[in-house]
Amino acid sequence: MKKYALVTGGSRGIGRSICLRLADMGYHVLINYKGNETEALLTKQLCEEKNVEAELLRFDVGSKDYIKLVLGAWVEAAGKEKVIEVLVNNAGIRQDTLMAMMTDDQWHSVMNTSLEGMFFVTRTVLPPMLMSRYGRIINVVSLSGIKGMAGQVNYSAAKAGMIGATKALAQEIARRNITVNAVAPGFIASDMTADLDEKELSNMIPMKRFGKPDEVADLVAFLASPNAAYITGQVISINGGLYT
Ligand code: NAP
Repeated sequence: MKKYALVTGGSRGIGRSICLRLADMGYHVLINYKGNETEALLTKQLCEEKNVEAELLRFDVGSKDYIKLVLGAWVEAAGKEKVIEVLVNNAGIRQDTLMAMMTDDQWHSVMNTSLEGMFFVTRTVLPPMLMSRYGRIINVVSLSGIKGMAGQVNYSAAKAGMIGATKALAQEIARRNITVNAVAPGFIASDMTADLDEKELSNMIPMKRFGKPDEVADLVAFLASPNAAYITGQVISINGGLYT
């Protein structure tokens, strides 16, 4: 049986680093992305250089129909030959603005990508994982989902929702040897944070720097490993010491 890891938003940033670390662990990698084909192809190539198979699965995690069409079809075709053992719900976007000015679209797009995306994707992957009685689900949340962040009511709500779902699902499926955890990064250098003043913000971080995607990926890789078997329903922060 071939063992796969699915990483949503695997084309760039933290998602790419996670794909590469899971490839190091010997997993074949399913790289989901929304539209950036060039970056997705580069992630695929980098995974293949680690002697595993890598497949691109393009779909919008916020679209139930696309997920059915692309991921649902993959799962159905996989049968018992291929199994998704690790799922990392990493896709996410920011649409920051103050609540009083927030449009419906800014609210819905952020909720759809993080919270609904996690629900639709996980529900699709879960039945075969339950059957095989082993799995690792890791949700990439945020410091904002723990403490709330001004200007990010949508993003904080989406990530806090994922944290609640992580804790509930962990209790539902622990008996099947499937762990469900969340990692909560602080400021990590990626396209998502490219518009922020890194120098200024680093001053409030005890480590005095932004984190690296590879550092988040190492934490995800540990939670995805058999060694993390007794950790479930947890939210693990990785933020250079920022108070949460
Ligand atoms: P990023 O560099 O902006 O990359 C975002 C990734 O998500 C891309 O692969 C993008 O695909 C994908 N994506 C976006 N919307 C999608 C959708 N609707 N369907 C499928 N894929 C979608 O972001 P990042 O910094 O690596 O962030 C990764 C995760 O970490 C996010 O959940 C974010 O909220 C979380 N996080 C980041 C930080 C940080 O400081 N960077 C801190 C805390 C939490 P395309 O390439 O096709 O656009």
